[in-house]
Amino acid sequence: MNTNYELIAGLEIHAQLSTSTKAFCRCPNRYGAEPNTLVCPVCLGAPGALPVLSKEVVKQATKLALAIGAEIHLHSRFDRKNYFYPDLPKGYQISQFNHPFATGGELHIAVGTSVRPIRITRAHIEEDAGKSMHLADGSTVVDMNRCGVPLIEIVSEPDFREPEEAGAYLTSMRELLRFIGVCDGNMEEGSLRCDANVSVRLRGESELRERTEMKNLNSIRSVERAIRAEMQRQIQAYESGGEISRQTLQWDDQSGKLTPMRAKEGSNDYRYFPEPDLPWLEITEADIDCERELLPTLPAARRKRYREEYGLHEEAVYLLASDRAISDYFETLLVDGRAPAIAAAWVQGDVQRILNENAWDFTEFPVSAARLGGVIDAVEQGRISRNAGRDLLRRMMTDTRSADEMISAEGMEQLSDATALRGIVRELLERFPSELAKYREGKTKMIGFFMGQIMQATKGQADPNSSREILMNELDHSN
Ligand SMILES: [Zn+2]
Repeated sequence: MNTNYELIAGLEIHAQLSTSTKAFCRCPNRYGAEPNTLVCPVCLGAPGALPVLSKEVVKQATKLALAIGAEIHLHSRFDRKNYFYPDLPKGYQISQFNHPFATGGELHIAVGTSVRPIRITRAHIEEDAGKSMHLADGSTVVDMNRCGVPLIEIVSEPDFREPEEAGAYLTSMRELLRFIGVCDGNMEEGSLRCDANVSVRLRGESELRERTEMKNLNSIRSVERAIRAEMQRQIQAYESGGEISRQTLQWDDQSGKLTPMRAKEGSNDYRYFPEPDLPWLEITEADIDCERELLPTLPAARRKRYREEYGLHEEAVYLLASDRAISDYFETLLVDGRAPAIAAAWVQGDVQRILNENAWDFTEFPVSAARLGGVIDAVEQGRISRNAGRDLLRRMMTDTRSADEMISAEGMEQLSDATALRGIVRELLERFPSELAKYREGKTKMIGFFMGQIMQATKGQADPNSSREILMNELDHSN
């Protein structure tokens, strides 16, 4: 790519809020139901039907605004955004235009080793439209179940200078939305969608050139690919003496091609005007404080603590802080004073392996932090070996007893009694005279043979460290 040019890109993220009902009616907010079964006169826009804003929507929007450090406006207003489209039965979408719910804020992204903030312009509340489905026979059908599903639209400043930065931002935003429980972030089901604004300019230029908008970016990878493709197209146009006109492009993930959808509308084309059926959205400082108290410690703050206070390495820091359930589980393990590095190794290693083998989400993991804590303690106190602990954890998938109960009921205690171990070692040396002779001739690998025999004789319960010490002592000092 021509490196004389730099990218100027911004993202608009639409996140469906995880509320129980739609934004302005009592229809359930649920994905995957039979088409056109979750509808009512309000969300279908029947004449005279009046919208009523759900309180849950305001709570979730507040949480998001707090999490990105945006300023929440105590008075915001809904507007009608008018346009004609088959999946929009009302002929307008309820959105916020001149008086959005929140403005400002930022989100930090990590690309390579550098972390930098991306500025956020605004976050406003709006409703989703229905969904057109194009059938194989060429006809198009419409499902209105999605009409009126609450969305928060988060608009970034044009702060991205590399396609990867846009991908990193989307990754961070999805993680944050999930972490605070306001959106499930499922891009395949469309609960998180993304549009990008792209322009390029020669390095050193201060004016912005014309930008295009890309719709339909339904994965993190397609955001990066589409921005890269559009960046290339614009550079080629300028280099061959052409111009870029403002337009909306459709990204096709299969072919990797961009096709023009329509000349980009200006906001005038939407004839925005205040929604006459809804009052101003009023929120108080007390309402905001209430949500602030409910907000969990966010991923960025957790990562800082894991890195700086616990001294965990980066891989563990990212794994343990990117998902609320995993992070809370890990922190519960630390409550009884367990060492962070040891608890992290169990969650990152053994627990993760079990999840992968079963294709489980973390929330499906059946062993509570208290029970895994019992396993960790038994290993750390030397009562069972690390291998026995690993085995115990696996058996807990189907056994509901605590680690202590399982260890004592099955006599799993590790054998570390020196007298007992010495007896076993002496017996083995007598039983295998030729192996002993080989060791005496200098074949040190016979140590491994005898360790194996000790483990076999004790059914794996011998403490490996004390066994080895006693074995070496007996090998070198007995006759
Ligand atoms: Zn409805």
